[in-house]
Amino acid sequence: MTSIFIKTFGCSHNVADSEELAYYLSNFGYTILGLENVTSHLSSSQSEYELELLKQADLIIYNTCTVKNPSDDKFFTLLKRTNKPVVLAGCIPQSQVADEWLKDYSAIGVDNLDLIVEVVEGTLKGDVVHRLKKRKSLDDRELPIIRRNSFVAIIPILQGCLGSCTYCKTKQARGHLKSYPKETIIKQIRKAKHEGVKEIWLVSEDNGAYGKDIDSSLPDLLRNISYTVLNSDIMVRVGMLNPEYAFEYKIELAEIIKQDCFYKFLHIPIQCANDSVLKDMNRPYTTSQFKESFSYLREKIPDITLATDIICGFPTESPEQFLDTLNYVKEEKFTVINISKFYPRPKTPAARMKLLPTHEVKRRSKELSDWFSGVNFNEPYVGQTLSVLFTEKGNVDGSFIGKTNNYRNVIVKSKKDILGMRFNVKIHSTTRDDLRGEIVN
Ligand code: SF4
Repeated sequence: MTSIFIKTFGCSHNVADSEELAYYLSNFGYTILGLENVTSHLSSSQSEYELELLKQADLIIYNTCTVKNPSDDKFFTLLKRTNKPVVLAGCIPQSQVADEWLKDYSAIGVDNLDLIVEVVEGTLKGDVVHRLKKRKSLDDRELPIIRRNSFVAIIPILQGCLGSCTYCKTKQARGHLKSYPKETIIKQIRKAKHEGVKEIWLVSEDNGAYGKDIDSSLPDLLRNISYTVLNSDIMVRVGMLNPEYAFEYKIELAEIIKQDCFYKFLHIPIQCANDSVLKDMNRPYTTSQFKESFSYLREKIPDITLATDIICGFPTESPEQFLDTLNYVKEEKFTVINISKFYPRPKTPAARMKLLPTHEVKRRSKELSDWFSGVNFNEPYVGQTLSVLFTEKGNVDGSFIGKTNNYRNVIVKSKKDILGMRFNVKIHSTTRDDLRGEIVN
């Protein structure tokens, strides 16, 4: 049995794509190594376990991410060290289709995951096979998958976006918005429900743009999803949507995610809090719009958990404009902040701008990271008893990770396997990233 190891970099969309690749390959008779360990992190540090799998594998699929320079660097470092047949997937080959180096490697495009078997077959025969052509629509894609975690369904709802952010390379890979038909997504949800899934993640480059190309919308899709999971104990994570859609849909979103089946959690990447820099980033919203969205959502759902992304050191950002962002973030108290340094990405407008000195970019992201690592917005939960759904094993033996209804991480110890189950947990301590406690019943 030929065995294949899929190494995944980047976002949850890439993890969903790896699950789909695994489905076609195992369905054809290949052995998939270590799928359960697919974790979406940018680490090139290969665990002992991973190194063992790499030794065992007859072929390796690198499902790549191109969002930042380090993601490219880590991938190319691994590629150089790889002495096995390789297939490249994800955003690096898809955004560099015409590049000379790619002629030496087999590659599959983000629209063509269902063609993976013919790419692998050809590669094992020693051929270089490319299936990188973009598709006009995704109507014929069924999204079959093998879940890395049998309790969590990661469901892509679209490919690409409607944005043209000046710093972004992802757009060159994922392209212009193509929404999956609502029926395809609902069919996936029904299948997940039938298979005992407890948590559903909706993923893409911008969930807010859903349906803009097929006469639907994110609220419309979410209403259909809530009908489908009604009376089940499934929890849905709406995921990431851009601020312009949070502003457009704030009233409907507040109404919809109030329902029990939705986590009270939204990830809304503002990137910065200065209108002039937002303009230079070509982000189609203003600071007053997202401030209005956040205060409305907090008013309607007081315990909502809000996550955001911040880019520090965009070329045109002055020290004063960075302070606007820093002061605003301190005021808004986001529970999760993904902090990035600006990186000039190839073939992007921002890469042609006059760059700030690297030390200044580092200083700004350090100032924000230092502040954020010193806060803990979970403290108020100490002493409370919360209802928690457990779907992941912890890093320490006998520990499990669950989510509260507002998507806070909760870590407990348990002698018995509690995956897929919900318990009340008495919280006795917290860190910035999680709550710790005892199961009470
Ligand atoms: S919305 Fe902007 S940052 Fe996001 S994928 Fe599209 S172009 Fe890139």
